[in-house]
Amino acid sequence: MPRLTQSDLKSLNQNFEERTPFELLQWAHQIFGERLAFLTAMQKTGTVISHMIKHLNLPVTVLFVDTGVNFQETLETRDRLVSEYRLNVRTLHPELTMREQTEKHGILYLTPEGQATCCHTRKVEPLRKIAGEYDGFIGSLRRAEGGRRGKTPILSIDKEMNALRVNALANFSDEELEAYTEEHNVIVNPLHSQGFTTIGCNRCTTPVMPGEPPRAGRWRHLGPWSMYCGINPTDVADTDQEYIELPQDVIDRVLGIENDFMI
Ligand code: SF4
Repeated sequence: MPRLTQSDLKSLNQNFEERTPFELLQWAHQIFGERLAFLTAMQKTGTVISHMIKHLNLPVTVLFVDTGVNFQETLETRDRLVSEYRLNVRTLHPELTMREQTEKHGILYLTPEGQATCCHTRKVEPLRKIAGEYDGFIGSLRRAEGGRRGKTPILSIDKEMNALRVNALANFSDEELEAYTEEHNVIVNPLHSQGFTTIGCNRCTTPVMPGEPPRAGRWRHLGPWSMYCGINPTDVADTDQEYIELPQDVIDRVLGIENDFMI
């Protein structure tokens, strides 16, 4: 099967620096069609992209991993995307309930090693189970979040899912995010107004205090502040040496070889 590497995407990524999120979403749909999905944890960035997908009327499946210990507000936000934006939301589940996992392995999230196992089991594996169903995943990482995300590529390969990630908001600033949310009255997870700058499982996420880094509320009981769950490959590893395998016609469309695709 033909391969696509991160370095193959270098000039395309440079060209895409000037593209708006709307243009990137339209490009992703044009390239991948029904084999495109959007992965979100129902934070503000996710509901902003959901609104853009609705606005563009793109038939994109929205993927949500329900770890079994999400906040009720997060589940209600997911349900609002279905009832108010009429989006097709597909919820993925881990194999074991949290109770079953705890009976078998104890409370994993209390140690760094256990957290890695728990996140892998409850977040990464449910997604990996559907590897092969999609060639493209829209993501909502932003460089403005700092840390490892400060260098988020717009297009990045996802070896585990054998797919291309399209980070449509990579260049969206905090101000642009707020302005879009306000202007379009976007559905927002109510936890954001309770001091949660980022939102994950209810076991491992707290609000942040004024002056704390945005990710200080994630795995606060473990520290340090810069931990990630691993569901986004560019958060935890460099993808420079990796490749994905896609049909040649899909690679040609991505690289604009057959169609000199211009927005
Ligand atoms: S965030 Fe916490 S509870 Fe959720 S999967 Fe990771 S370790 Fe487990």
